[in-house]
Amino acid sequence: MFTVTTITSMQSDFQSGFVALFGKPNAGKSTLLNALVGEKMAIVSPKVQTTRHRIKAFLNNDHYQIVFSDTPGIIEPKYKLHQKMMHQVKNALEDADIALLLYDLTDPDLFEADDLFASLRLKVPAIVICNKVDAVKPPLVKEAIKFFKEKSYVKEVIAISAAQKSGLDGLIEKILKFLPIGMPFFDTEDMSDLPTKFFVSELIREKIFEIFHEEVPYHTAVLVQEFKEKTTLIKIQADIIVHRETQKLIVIGEKGKMIKRLGTEARLEIEKFLEQKVFLELFVKVRPKWRDDELKLREYGYQ
Ligand code: GDP
Ligand code: MG
Repeated sequence: MFTVTTITSMQSDFQSGFVALFGKPNAGKSTLLNALVGEKMAIVSPKVQTTRHRIKAFLNNDHYQIVFSDTPGIIEPKYKLHQKMMHQVKNALEDADIALLLYDLTDPDLFEADDLFASLRLKVPAIVICNKVDAVKPPLVKEAIKFFKEKSYVKEVIAISAAQKSGLDGLIEKILKFLPIGMPFFDTEDMSDLPTKFFVSELIREKIFEIFHEEVPYHTAVLVQEFKEKTTLIKIQADIIVHRETQKLIVIGEKGKMIKRLGTEARLEIEKFLEQKVFLELFVKVRPKWRDDELKLREYGYQ
């Protein structure tokens, strides 16, 4: 009887809820997510649109479980793939208890940001996060804070540097003000609801963004076909799906130089992430117009 009472009182003020990150491509959503959960959950790249999937990450402790979701950037639906990305943005919105609206201080168009945030017609409390304080002069930060504080859809405004991990404690405090009381939604031992295979394919995709230029990264999907834990290492086989024969040639490179480099660099990242030795095998496959193909999009995980 006593134990039951103790458990109930312990959990009576436990907070649990969903927080969605929004903002223009490059605002720093993935960097913030990584900084908050302390692991490389979302891939970070200086190129736009690297985050195609909705990534959930959990911040757990004795008092709360915050489930963050990273979203693809807010963009015009040009291709089917883009429509799917916008759909995911809306999904994230509908799920969330709180929306974090990221404003990039180094891309300072207050009115454009206001238009974008207002157009979301949020029904949930919103916290505007002015990111990249490390890269701008203080008066600009002050002006942005003042500007957003006056907006009706904004509950709180905060300035941070996701890259330098400054201002994050203050952010958690503000999030907790709006987070409902309740039991955790996910196992508090877990860090994410996504399978390891997903992170492996994202790490390979991140390398593709680093190594290749122009349209190649945007026309590429990565599909992990095999993930086998052996006694001494993990064997991973992944397909790199491109649109065109010419892109396949670029990815493979002269005498296989590029694919070899990609394989080595991706393997090192995956080994760091899994903390295990990895044998990585990559195949390049041509699938014309995969971005517009409903079935293939589904197969590659862009539901
Ligand atoms: P996302 O598209 O919103 O997910 O943005 P990313 O997290 O991928 O970041 C885009 C770029 O902005 C990357 O080059 C980051 O290193 C950079 N960045 C993110 N946060 C900060 C920050 O606080 N300060 C500075 N100077 N750069 C940042
Ligand atoms: Mg991102």
